[in-house]
Amino acid sequence: MASKYIFVTGGVTSSLGKGIISASLAKLLQARGFSVTIQKFDPYINIDPGTLNPYEHGECFVTDDGAETDLDLGHYERFLNIPTSQANNVTTGKIYHHVITEERRGAYLGKTVQVVPHITDEIKRRLLLLGQSGEFDIVITEIGGCVGDIESLPFIESVRQLRWELPANDSVVIHLTLLPYLKAAGELKTKPTQHSVRSLSEAGVQPDILVCRSEHPIPVEMRKKIALFCNVKVNSVIESLDADTIYDVPLLMRKEKLDEQVIKKLKLTSKQELNLDTWKEFLGRLKNPTEEVHIALVGKYVELPDAYKSIIESFIHAGAQNECKVNIHTIQSEYLNRDNVYHHLHEMDAVLVAPGFGQRGFEGKLEAIRFVRENQIPFLGICLGMQCAVVEFARNVAGLTDAASTEMNPETPYPVIDLMESQKEVTEKGGTMRLGAYICELKKGTKAYSIYGKNRISERHRHRYEFNNQYLEKLEQHGMIASGINPDNGLVEVVELTNHPWFVAAQYHPELKSTVQNPHPLFVKFVKAAIHHHKTNNILVK
Ligand code: GLN
Repeated sequence: MASKYIFVTGGVTSSLGKGIISASLAKLLQARGFSVTIQKFDPYINIDPGTLNPYEHGECFVTDDGAETDLDLGHYERFLNIPTSQANNVTTGKIYHHVITEERRGAYLGKTVQVVPHITDEIKRRLLLLGQSGEFDIVITEIGGCVGDIESLPFIESVRQLRWELPANDSVVIHLTLLPYLKAAGELKTKPTQHSVRSLSEAGVQPDILVCRSEHPIPVEMRKKIALFCNVKVNSVIESLDADTIYDVPLLMRKEKLDEQVIKKLKLTSKQELNLDTWKEFLGRLKNPTEEVHIALVGKYVELPDAYKSIIESFIHAGAQNECKVNIHTIQSEYLNRDNVYHHLHEMDAVLVAPGFGQRGFEGKLEAIRFVRENQIPFLGICLGMQCAVVEFARNVAGLTDAASTEMNPETPYPVIDLMESQKEVTEKGGTMRLGAYICELKKGTKAYSIYGKNRISERHRHRYEFNNQYLEKLEQHGMIASGINPDNGLVEVVELTNHPWFVAAQYHPELKSTVQNPHPLFVKFVKAAIHHHKTNNILVK
């Protein structure tokens, strides 16, 4: 059977949650036995978000095959529990890059290369790519940005063309809009939705289903009005209320029968009776915690929680697994110092030091790590957080004064974290880090081994700097051991302390592999350690 296609567009404003709606619909279709994937088409000109500041676009999500992608791919993986890949995130930059490279090659010799048909042909080719793999019954494409934006036009035009080219009943367009609530008038307003649907229609795309974000229930009369003005059936006006957690949204969409509408329009029959049992069990555990802990997230992008999206979601999965409410306290590392670290951290049950780049906030992270090391507070370091743990230990325990990462101090006498050999010649910034999944072997008898319960793991990376093996022996003598090593190149992937109840730091990003169905063991055990710490209530030194 050929794949069916669902296109999700957005109007009125950004941040309406197209990614969550797409992931929720995909979950419902998956629960009916369909194999589903989701892809994101972003209208910006960057080839990928890898070069974007987290303040600009939130976290950069990395796939197994090493693509630096939009954070929505994280939601897709967390909801569906299947990995995404390079092909799941396309940008205007990638499309143009391909077309221009082809032009230089002579592929269009003699022709004027134009947005229509050359750019739109390339967009269409990519829109259909995953469907043609034969792996998926349904491909959902989320089109980033808002209808009416200059940048989105070629994408909408490509959807228009495809709607004509694909067999009838093989595609559906879902348009996500906002019904603002005017407090003074005491009512929801439909006009922005009408305008948004009109501009989509002007571009030649008539939506089949409207998903309307709203802070209040949409009365039946209003649904009828929207249907009348927007050329959709009343039962295709779907209400999307604000939810307590994003993980409620599949159930809310189920209640609104979004999945049934889609299936009917695509002329599909469910492969199995809808089964959301494990999802509901997860929600049950999430909403009925028996424990509560406070965990500090120390980083420098804390003003924008989206910058640590996957870490925050991993805590939600791990919290549910432990039936524990995890309160995350974000702490700006830039302002942490020896004098105030006690104040910020002494009530914490565990501390996570986040990934990051550059000097800003680096010394504050070291202070946080010294504090948790000395006070036996559970600690998880991720990527830069691991590199900080190594620097802190080298300086304060192994006696290597002024040890540093060469990222922060190229002149350090003790470069305990140094640029990888393969990185030394690299001058371009985009897509040149150590990216994607690599194998790691965990040593028997270590904490890391007991956490994973196996010795061979695969985790995702995104960094240029590495543990410098010249210092391994010295650090191990003092009690920081390498418990995970890449078997192919000997690079240290996990370190831990032997004389600390729970101090684990990884060069890779465990948060990129945690899903609702498979909460990541590092986070699960870290939260467990926090619960234990909370109960034993150690007295801390200032
Ligand atoms: N800046 C560090 C490096 O490039 C860590 C990167 C990260 O935390 N993702 O190695």
